[in-house]
Amino acid sequence: MPAALSSFTWKDSQLKLTQERYEEGTTDLEYTAWIVNELCQCRFAPVAKILHENKAVQRLFTPHEYFIQGEATTAKPKFDTQTRATSLAVYIFTPTQYQNPKCKQCGSFQSRGPASDCRVPTTKHGAGACTNCYYSGQSTACSLRIAAEQERVEVFAKKEKDRFEMYTSDELDELSEEQLEGWAQMVKDEIENKRSAGRCPIKKRRS
Ligand SMILES: [Zn+2]
Ligand SMILES: [Zn+2]
Repeated sequence: MPAALSSFTWKDSQLKLTQERYEEGTTDLEYTAWIVNELCQCRFAPVAKILHENKAVQRLFTPHEYFIQGEATTAKPKFDTQTRATSLAVYIFTPTQYQNPKCKQCGSFQSRGPASDCRVPTTKHGAGACTNCYYSGQSTACSLRIAAEQERVEVFAKKEKDRFEMYTSDELDELSEEQLEGWAQMVKDEIENKRSAGRCPIKKRRS
């Protein structure tokens, strides 16, 4: 059974539909109620799960405004794909972080939103991409996701570097036999890794 719009609240008040068409909305609350009503009719499993688990609107949806040939246009969200519908449910019902500055895509004059603000879910949704890029099926291109991935790679590389940093002979003196053996094993493992990856060719013995 689809969820009923009246089972959702914003600041303890039930959501209700006040307009027939999205375009007739005048406030963020009206736009949000219209979107939640559409989400209630969605058959996509991730959307149904979010609606089942969350009854309180976390934030109202502010549509992105853009210009087509000088004319102001209000972005109208679509619900035709699982990605689009899920990103809207994520924006309205789940924890996200407001981004300032916005990602490159949201900050571009070509952006079509659909939301006016750039928000990154703090859950696994979109894997670090903002909800607008997620909506557009462009999660992997979101500049915020790319930056976060780059940072993870750098942190990992730094840790690895520290792990293999050479000990000075004074430091070696202070290590216990057990620590030395552990270290020797780590070096052996690394040599093995390199050999199996073909980066450290085994020297042939001259007979
Ligand atoms: Zn964005
Ligand atoms: Zn983005």
